Amino acid sequence: MPLPAAFKCFIFAAMDKKPRLRFAPSPTGGLHIGGVRTVLYNYLFAKQHGGDFVLRIEDTDQGRFVAGAEEYIYETLHWCGLEPDESPLKPGLFGPYRQSERKPLYRNYADQLIDRGLAYYAFDTPEELEHRRKTTPNFQYNVATRAGLRNSLTLTDQEVKILIEKGIPYTIRIRMPENEEIRFTDMIRGELVFQTSLVDDKVLLKADGMPTYHLAVVVDDFLMEITHVFRGEEWLSSAPVHILLWKHLYGEDKMPRWAHLPLILKPDGNGKLSKRDGDRLGFPVFAMDWTDPRNGEKTTGFKERGFLPEAFINFLALQGWNDGTEQEVFSLEELILKFSIDRVHKGGAKFNYEKAKWFNSEWIKKLPVTHYLPQVKASLEQQGISVKKDDQLKTVMELVRDRCSLLSDFAGQSAFFFRYPATIDLASVQPKWNEQKNLFFAELIRTYELIPRWEHEELERTFKEIAAVNEIKTGELMLPLRIMLVGQKSGPGVFHIAEVLGRKETFDRIRKGLQLLS
Ligand code: GLU
Repeated sequence: MPLPAAFKCFIFAAMDKKPRLRFAPSPTGGLHIGGVRTVLYNYLFAKQHGGDFVLRIEDTDQGRFVAGAEEYIYETLHWCGLEPDESPLKPGLFGPYRQSERKPLYRNYADQLIDRGLAYYAFDTPEELEHRRKTTPNFQYNVATRAGLRNSLTLTDQEVKILIEKGIPYTIRIRMPENEEIRFTDMIRGELVFQTSLVDDKVLLKADGMPTYHLAVVVDDFLMEITHVFRGEEWLSSAPVHILLWKHLYGEDKMPRWAHLPLILKPDGNGKLSKRDGDRLGFPVFAMDWTDPRNGEKTTGFKERGFLPEAFINFLALQGWNDGTEQEVFSLEELILKFSIDRVHKGGAKFNYEKAKWFNSEWIKKLPVTHYLPQVKASLEQQGISVKKDDQLKTVMELVRDRCSLLSDFAGQSAFFFRYPATIDLASVQPKWNEQKNLFFAELIRTYELIPRWEHEELERTFKEIAAVNEIKTGELMLPLRIMLVGQKSGPGVFHIAEVLGRKETFDRIRKGLQLLS
């Protein structure tokens, strides 16, 4: 449901300066399609308003670091055509763009919050906290429990000083206010209210001095002058912490606008789409192939499955948004023009792989085949077919593209153009085969030898003429011809096929077919 006009004004009134949006992934593995859709919506909004799209790598959780994940993100964005204006690889004025390289920036903010009584030191050991979790159902470190734990709210100043001097590890936690309300306007969900007593006192600075995501995300969004934060719905529960930090550190008027994007759901709508659903149901969930270096586990990507980036992007844009018309096929340029965050749905979008393939088949038809010829050539090569002439492959691709929904379908659909079919479906012709048909094909070859222009209209006309003279229905003869040339019943127009095969190969195949049938 689109938001009321007054609300739209509110969104756009806040955009007197050039918008800056960011995608802030943690490099912990392959990029789930939900992540790519987040990139896309950020990118579309930034570009529509002449703004910047920033890529920031959130790698403060060293324990979750996975080698190669950062490079994978760059490659995915590149494949999708969603190039950031600023990133670790393309630094702008707001670097560094990797949080691990910004470590010295955060401590000061945590200290500031301690000095103002808005955060506190917590000395509880991981074992103590583990014990609490085991013994107290749904344990949370929060307004209700913090008074019974080992922190600077329960210890004296002197005790705290001694612990710190002794080098006892501690974390810094935000002190959530008691019984207050935190309100904010989400660009998709409208006005939202959170009770502070229900939100836990999140760790801001870890014992190793690294900020947690919660502190780093706010500090960096401020320092990088981010104007809009579009991110997944899973971050909605953290929003009150972030908003409170914004108020404490920089003031509410500096805060970016928020939009929490709906989840991409399992095909049956029951819960968030996971990598495991993809493995179970046989479709990709990641943008590109990903091999987990920790266990060698491989996950297939849309790219390698045979998707065009244009189709992938188009499909993702419509997982949670539409422009209010029947139009479904949009180029990136059109999406930049037409996207509007207020038309993003609140409810989750059910993942539909068949629909994704439909988008791909539309884009296969829409783009010039030369656009994806190298991939098709490579997949034919994998089948041992090396095509010398690109022009010939182009013609073949144009003939079979209506039958392909994935780029990987091309090899199967066009192999017979380049080598004699592996099997010939004689069974569909043999029962009705007779001497009259045998003679027809012999005559066909003799006449075809003489025709000046080897092209499909001429071939068809000649074929029909001979059939008429011999008083055989063309329908009775087309199938045998197809089986002789293709090996099976399907494929593009049979005279187009003969044209591409050329005179000699066509004759060879007909002769071979006649031998097999006799
Ligand atoms: N680092 C978070 C993630 O991995 C970013 C969340 C946000 O955009 O605030 O998704």
